[in-house]
Amino acid sequence: MNRLAGRVAAVTGSSRGIGRAIAAAFLAEGARVIVNSRQAEAAAATARELGSDTRGVAADVSMPEGAQAVVQAALETFGRLDVMVPNAGINIVKPAVDYAPEEWRGILATNLDGVFYCAQAAGRAMLEQRSGSIISIASVLSYSAFPQRAAYAAAKGGLLMLTKVLAVEWAAAGVRVNAIAPGYVATDMVKGLAGEGKVDLPAVRRRTPMGRLATPEEIAKAAVFLASDEASFITGETLVVDGGWLAYGWV
Ligand code: NDP
Repeated sequence: MNRLAGRVAAVTGSSRGIGRAIAAAFLAEGARVIVNSRQAEAAAATARELGSDTRGVAADVSMPEGAQAVVQAALETFGRLDVMVPNAGINIVKPAVDYAPEEWRGILATNLDGVFYCAQAAGRAMLEQRSGSIISIASVLSYSAFPQRAAYAAAKGGLLMLTKVLAVEWAAAGVRVNAIAPGYVATDMVKGLAGEGKVDLPAVRRRTPMGRLATPEEIAKAAVFLASDEASFITGETLVVDGGWLAYGWV
């Protein structure tokens, strides 16, 4: 259980959900971890709850300054940065014709721009170090169209190519860039949409060959693998973790 011993990681959007599970899994594997949320109290509470090898950073990573603050915290606190997980993401479900420009921009800013800013800031440190692993969180919506998710799907689709371009640009310098594409995961994001009547959870379970949602911990296991030396020759790849969702083509 020491696959990340000596490594320093940063996980954005880690006060709850998938990001928090990834931070906890990294810590369990021996890493020191920067955790992050837009809210100071949530970032500090998460760091307190996860233990002494953490530091909480309040920053909005949809902006370059926020992404830079997360990377800077890793360098100042722990002296290096080995793993960056730009996980922070938001969602909106509404007909494409009803989007206000700021709603479209808001989703793209967090889910695509923010991933680029985090990868860029981390990449600068990692290229100098000549090692590192960047793992963004895509989605089954990167591949498959759901109605009323135009901005979210456009951002998540964009992550697939962003992952590939950064991977080939940085491969020779020892920096690997990959993504994970989860199916539905039981987090506040999904519970919120279900509460608003925008996601039908029984239908999601029926549509998923494994008959259930993922737990955040199941996504975290994939992140540990991609962060670790077990994935030392894997770059430019998106690992689908969806209980069979994308494979399923029957009625
Ligand atoms: P949650 O809504 O449960 O958690 C999101 C986290 O991101 C919170 O910690 C939130 O904290 C933080 N956050 C949001 N915006 C920002 C920002 N601009 N800067 C810093 N932190 C921010 O989401 P999930 O855990 O469900 O999702 C995590 C990632 O996984 C997202 O990228 C999502 O798109 C992706 N994903 C989720 C799936 C699912 O079914 N849940 C499926 C596929 C992909 P705060 O609000 O305090 O800032």
